Amino acid sequence: MQSPARERLLLGPGPSNVPERVRQAAAAPLLGHLDPAFLAVLDEVAERLRRLFGTGNPLTLPLSATGSAGMEACLVNLLEAGDDAVIGVAGVFGERMCEVASRAGARVTRVETPPGTALEPDAMAQAIERVRPKVVSFVHAETSTGVQQPVAEIAQAARAHGALTVLDCVTSLGGLPVRLDDWGIDAAYSATQKCLSVAPGLAPVSFSPRAVERVGVRATPVQSWFLDLSLLGGYYGGDRVYHHTAPISAIFGLAEGLRMVEEEGMDARAARHREAAAALVDGLAPLGFAPLVEASIRLPMLTSVKLPNSLQGAPEANLRRRLLDAHGIEVGGGLGKLAGKIWRIGLMGENARTAHVERLLTALRAELQPA
Ligand SMILES: *Cc1c(COP(=O)(O)O)cnc(C)c1O
Repeated sequence: MQSPARERLLLGPGPSNVPERVRQAAAAPLLGHLDPAFLAVLDEVAERLRRLFGTGNPLTLPLSATGSAGMEACLVNLLEAGDDAVIGVAGVFGERMCEVASRAGARVTRVETPPGTALEPDAMAQAIERVRPKVVSFVHAETSTGVQQPVAEIAQAARAHGALTVLDCVTSLGGLPVRLDDWGIDAAYSATQKCLSVAPGLAPVSFSPRAVERVGVRATPVQSWFLDLSLLGGYYGGDRVYHHTAPISAIFGLAEGLRMVEEEGMDARAARHREAAAALVDGLAPLGFAPLVEASIRLPMLTSVKLPNSLQGAPEANLRRRLLDAHGIEVGGGLGKLAGKIWRIGLMGENARTAHVERLLTALRAELQPA
């Protein structure tokens, strides 16, 4: 059997490395998607996802596609043509929400904040009060900049004005505590390849009873047949009516990844992410890399660092290539306006370990300060 790729240490903005236990689980012999043995695994996954999302939402499931499909599922089910949406834009993924919502026919009101800063809850609340939107949507952990956004206050303002709140938990789930019910979130989505350390391909999603109700009283059918919640609920909701063939092997992998999260415990896991990030920031400082984001809103699983002048532009791309080729380490470059100016270093899920930080620092020292 030929191996398609060599082993890498994946310290970019995702995917993160997949532990052997998860790889073995995903390689188990296939079952049918209506086999009781598989349905038991699916039930287990839904239950573990509810615990991790901090919700009792019955409609919680691993959607058969990546995180972007989770975003699309939340927005196209809750929005109809002509509906208003207020969207917080603090980077590329908030921007993507605007694109998805406007393609669904919604009138989008953007509340923007410069890259590297967090949304102002007051600015969001004012827009919500003015527009009275059907949906308020924003990102918990903005992976394009490394900023953690305030959730509770924005969700509260949305609820006070009758809006449903959609939260992107792609990078936060499994690395930061998530509490959908305490915060009052109505629809949330994540992805497997970031802090869950499972291969890309599934988007855990969760919909509150209010959200499900709203989908039930739509005047028009959901534009996407594949992502229509009322159809997905026929299979994932418990009746097990065929909708599409669930990706069995991917779900086996996710089940094992979620078992590992629970064995460790979310508090210990969050602490491990914080410790690894602190070691990274400390170790990079003497090499001339300064954090882009202020400490109080800095994400633990994704650190954006400003590059020293000497590395901006083409040299940074060359250095990333050297890290990959000579040291087997992947780190991420900047996106959009920050391209060539920052690096995004992910310490996600299994990779949030000080030993990995040391390996990266050793490689960087060898490249930047040759003996
Ligand atoms: C990665 C990411 C996405 C998109 O997920 P894909 O699995 O690449 O489709 C969406 N939102 C955030 C915050 C992300 O980091």
